[in-house]
Amino acid sequence: MTRPSGIVTIDNTGRVVLVSGGASGIGLAICQAFLDSGAMVASLDLQPKAMENNPADRLNCIQGDCSKEADCQAAVQQTIDRFGAIDILVNNAAIQPPSSYQPLHLVDSGDWQRMLDVNLSGYHFMAKHAVPQMVKQGSGVIINLASGQAHRTARQVACYGPIKAANVMQTMQWGIEYARDGIRVCSVSPGAIDTPLVRASLAAQGGAQKLANRHPLGRIGQPEEIAAAVLWLSSSAASFVTATDLQVDGGLGAFGAFAEPYPISSLKGS
Ligand code: NAD
Repeated sequence: MTRPSGIVTIDNTGRVVLVSGGASGIGLAICQAFLDSGAMVASLDLQPKAMENNPADRLNCIQGDCSKEADCQAAVQQTIDRFGAIDILVNNAAIQPPSSYQPLHLVDSGDWQRMLDVNLSGYHFMAKHAVPQMVKQGSGVIINLASGQAHRTARQVACYGPIKAANVMQTMQWGIEYARDGIRVCSVSPGAIDTPLVRASLAAQGGAQKLANRHPLGRIGQPEEIAAAVLWLSSSAASFVTATDLQVDGGLGAFGAFAEPYPISSLKGS
């Protein structure tokens, strides 16, 4: 028997969204979800790819590097010039090179610096330049993509985890700083989601089946499931939610390392 599941529709008509890293994975799904719900969307990415079958008058793909403050400032300005406002900033672009999976003393300093520049400074620069426009408007929402690894860790993630934890603190700090300016700030911490970033590190995470089985729901997530959380947090339905993090992780974060693993035979689709 199929019971009604509760269908949510969000109308973003007229809202302006700026997403970093919108050309792939979770960022692409976020851009698509905002476009589908009527928003005007700008994406800043190293490799902007035209998102076909979308209305050109509501989409602006900007080429740039969010680790460079000038590129962030230019993306914010282009968005305001083209669409007249910034209602939502989604800090999403981040990297986790396979070579960074090392214990602390073996981490390549170039990997560390690049991850700091993109994953931490990138969020800082984008928000720094978007906030003045939001203050002027008296409204705005910032969503930071953090990670389950912001909350608990594993061996050999000496760079990614600590920087993701800092993204959660950026959320809390900016959230309380601008609460009286009409700006809400939230983060989303995904479990493993089917994107190029995760596919690149599957071997380091024990392979696809093992990774799926660590999630109590018995599968990894889809980018659209993260986009749905971002849309809800950005909407008026979340008007009393700020300076906090939402874990969208199939139960991963609640499952203790001491717990008996689920049997592989109970995996979804197996
Ligand atoms: P992805 O690698 O699939 O996509 C990242 C996008 O960011 C790409 O389009 C890339 O070109 C762009 N990008 C990278 N560096 C950039 C830079 N310097 N300037 C501008 N754009 C840049 O990644 P994803 O898996 O979609 O991850 C998106 C976010 O979600 C990240 O913040 C990541 O840490 C987080 N996250 C992902 C997962 C997961 O399982 N995929 C889990 C937890 C958290």
